[in-house]
Amino acid sequence: MSLPLPLRLTLFYVLLLGLTLAGFGYLVYHQAEQRAYHDLDALLSNRAASVVLGKDLLASALPANSVLPIRLPGVNALGGDGVAIEVLNAKLTLLATTNASSEASGGTTIADISPSPVPWDIQAARWVLAHPLNSDGKPNSMYSTLTYEGQQVRIYTTINDTFGSFQVIQTARSEQSLQQSLDQLRQTLLAGGLLMLILALVGGLSLTWGALAPVRRLTQTAREISASQDFSRRVSLKKRARRDQITELAATFNSMLAALDSAYRQQKRFIADASHELRAPITSIRCNLDLLARAPDLPAEEVDAALVDARNEADRMGRLVNDLLTLARGDETRTVGQPSENEEHLPAVDLDSLLLEVFRQYKGAGQDGNGLPRLTLQHITPARVHAQEDQLKQVLVALLDNAFKYTPAEGTVTLALSVEERQAIMTISDTGIGIPSEDLPHIFERFYRADRARSREQGGSGLGLAIAQSIVQTYHGRIEVQSTPGQGSTFAVILPCAPATIN
Ligand code: ADP
Repeated sequence: MSLPLPLRLTLFYVLLLGLTLAGFGYLVYHQAEQRAYHDLDALLSNRAASVVLGKDLLASALPANSVLPIRLPGVNALGGDGVAIEVLNAKLTLLATTNASSEASGGTTIADISPSPVPWDIQAARWVLAHPLNSDGKPNSMYSTLTYEGQQVRIYTTINDTFGSFQVIQTARSEQSLQQSLDQLRQTLLAGGLLMLILALVGGLSLTWGALAPVRRLTQTAREISASQDFSRRVSLKKRARRDQITELAATFNSMLAALDSAYRQQKRFIADASHELRAPITSIRCNLDLLARAPDLPAEEVDAALVDARNEADRMGRLVNDLLTLARGDETRTVGQPSENEEHLPAVDLDSLLLEVFRQYKGAGQDGNGLPRLTLQHITPARVHAQEDQLKQVLVALLDNAFKYTPAEGTVTLALSVEERQAIMTISDTGIGIPSEDLPHIFERFYRADRARSREQGGSGLGLAIAQSIVQTYHGRIEVQSTPGQGSTFAVILPCAPATIN
């Protein structure tokens, strides 16, 4: 079973913190221990030195033939601190020792221990007698630790020859108080470390839990959306939330939902519009067929009229289905990434020739004063683009059809071709009715008609511009439009030039 992410993250950091604290605690404890032993050793050697320096005391106290050990003044007289001192001769017979009764340091000292071992550390005493001088010619000394009556005792052994013969001086002190303070330090470090780990665990959990709240909301919203198919839902974001990666993710998720929502709505509208557009010709055809079936004795002209009407509607439906197929293919091509990836393999089309060809066709149709606006040709710059020629022609025809459709007979439609920054720009301008600014952003949408009644009556399905844009986008181009209501519109088809035509 895997642990929840906030817990896993927190445990990981707590583990890291624990390891750091353990290392740090060990360092602190180790240093304190070293310091304490260093201080203890210094105290013991100082005591031994003060015995050596106390010449009066030793001179009177150490008669060579002394039988009983002389009582040295209590440890307090020598400076206190619970240090027990023993002075022994070369045969390790006790010559002098601290006065236990004057010890005032309570139970933590070993001066009270009675009887004290004589000497405290026999091996150390023998060693200094065997090696009285060190390599520098100074009296040798050593530190040792013994367990005595359940207590760790630190012993300092040195040698002295002030009075013509060697005396061994041993100073000793219980490590009990030192161990107690080290124990205390260890407990403080452990308790402090534990407290910090608990705080880190609680704090870390609440922090990661809070930080991952948007992710939980995100998951919840995604789950609800997949259950309800309601793309209008959004992940709630706190108004004053900090901008971090997770809120960024939630915001990106929301914008993705908005895009999906809009695509979903567009799709629904498209299907509704397509059904609606297809229903009209079907109804018309059905009415005509019903009429023919119900009235077999209909006059021949009316039969003809009904048949022509049905045929026209069937043609219209055919065109509509073709348009829809073209759009669907364009969508698929763009999603799959073709033919952009194989663009180099497409034929290079001479846009100037294409434009002239279309110009001639329309010019021919508009010659006999049949109520169409005047068609003129402006400057033409030679340009080649990689594309399917018939598709580019379809774009030109759709734009020219619109220009003629929305321009009065006394107006003008102008064609031009120029090259700017390795881009071919074909413009189709008219002096027609223009497009209201509120409609401009929508005219490339499928089935959108700025002036529904008027467009419909002129046979437009609202797919012409959508198809033109879909084709141009397939070749990495775009269509730009500028329009002023009452003055006219200019559509510019911008396509990247084929490399060969770049000067
Ligand atoms: P339609 O088949 O209705 O013409 P289009 O997709 O070709 O559909 O155009 C969408 C809408 O854009 C049209 O209904 C029309 O209102 C507007 N439009 C397109 N071209 C022009 C133009 N040259 N002048 C004015 N309006 C235009």
